[in-house]
Amino acid sequence: MKPFIDADEIWGYINQAAADKGRIREIIAKSLNKNRLTLEETAVLINANDPELVEEIKQGAKNLKEKVYGQRIVLFAPLYVGNLCINNCAYCGYKASNKQMKRITLSNEDLIAQVKALEDTGQKRLILVYGEHPKYDARFIADTVRTVYGVKSGPGEIRRVNINAAPLDIDGFRIVKDANIGTYQVFQETYDEETYAKVHLGGIKRDYNWRLTSLDRAQEAGIDDVGIGALFGLYDWRFEVMGLVRHTNHFEACYNVGPHTISFPRIQYASELNINKSHLVSDYDFTRLVAILRLAVPYTGLILTARESSAIRDEILQFGVSQIDGGTNIEMGGYSKKKENENQDIDFEQFQINDNRSLNEIMEELIDKKYIPSFCTSCYRSGRTGEHFMEFSVPGFIKRFCQPNAMLTLAEYLEDYAPSGTKEKGEKLLEEKLGEMEENEFKEKLKEKLKMVKEGNRDLYY
Ligand code: SF4
Ligand code: SF4
Repeated sequence: MKPFIDADEIWGYINQAAADKGRIREIIAKSLNKNRLTLEETAVLINANDPELVEEIKQGAKNLKEKVYGQRIVLFAPLYVGNLCINNCAYCGYKASNKQMKRITLSNEDLIAQVKALEDTGQKRLILVYGEHPKYDARFIADTVRTVYGVKSGPGEIRRVNINAAPLDIDGFRIVKDANIGTYQVFQETYDEETYAKVHLGGIKRDYNWRLTSLDRAQEAGIDDVGIGALFGLYDWRFEVMGLVRHTNHFEACYNVGPHTISFPRIQYASELNINKSHLVSDYDFTRLVAILRLAVPYTGLILTARESSAIRDEILQFGVSQIDGGTNIEMGGYSKKKENENQDIDFEQFQINDNRSLNEIMEELIDKKYIPSFCTSCYRSGRTGEHFMEFSVPGFIKRFCQPNAMLTLAEYLEDYAPSGTKEKGEKLLEEKLGEMEENEFKEKLKEKLKMVKEGNRDLYY
């Protein structure tokens, strides 16, 4: 496959797009009418440097969220399965050259203990994370996914397992698909080839095109649920946003479906990293770029991670981020450790996280802000594929599916895991949300289902 990122083309758009006020408003209106933006239109938003225009862009992203995405936020947790790695990424603590790093691959027993610990906090959706190493081949990944699905602790179970692992070949993706995975994520890290070569100093990951085309191979293998991402701070954020939009329209053109999710981790503590620090992204530009991405790809799920502080998370949630991780512990084997041991040794971690709140703390904060924390996995399990696209494009989808499912999974959480204070607040929120619904048969059925959850029924969904 020919590489589809053309740096000259991208810079051509960035250098030529005029950030005219009228044009910016037209572009925001186009996005609010549920249309993905072109590269040229995205470049116009990128070039809007006047603070008033930046505010209009952020307001546009907020309006899109109000108009389309409703009040539910899906929660998940990352689980690191192994940190063996043959690559040397300048920005990562797991790089092969870091001889201080203790290398661990969870045994089956350890993996089960981690999953049980996660289930015991109420998690239902995981993303399994693996370094790049011959040991973590497709069969290994598929086996760990099956193990995770098989772990049940009390009322707990994992209902969706997503993967963040090295690119595979087509046969490898087929093997992993057969284990019933959700999304397969491969982040390009940077779309700029020259920077890519500078920060990937050894191992298979040096091959820019092998990584860039990895999710095309996933599509060939029948995995149409793929996640892309860029690590902001390696190169000019404007180019990376354009790269993500180009990657999206490549998928649309070739497979008729965009990426399921876009992630945008950001490097913040670069003092000990061997990278050019001139591209670190300020909070101002970061919130702005997320708003631009929201408008550029209005139907794609946006994932925000615990690398960001709670203050940044709170702002970005208003732009229609659909998923966040909660209660994240990126220490290898960290979930099953006792609380007093949680001041972990940094040598075991890949990067630093800035939101150390427990899942329940995050749940409570979302509830306080009137979001409905959700563990919904219903589309995937009911065979409704392209879920983010449907919630975006099918009229009434959020009302009929996302919101009631969020309420049902929240009700489960309140019954099974929440301390009394959270339970009280959560039940009040459920009452409020019910109160806002029209009186009709659907509402009566939902009330009945919520009652069934209280009576001990689980996994009820639409
Ligand atoms: Fe290995 Fe991934 Fe870290 Fe690179 S980012 S060193 S591939 S674990
Ligand atoms: Fe996601 Fe579908 Fe659940 Fe909505 S109903 S939250 S789109 S899985």
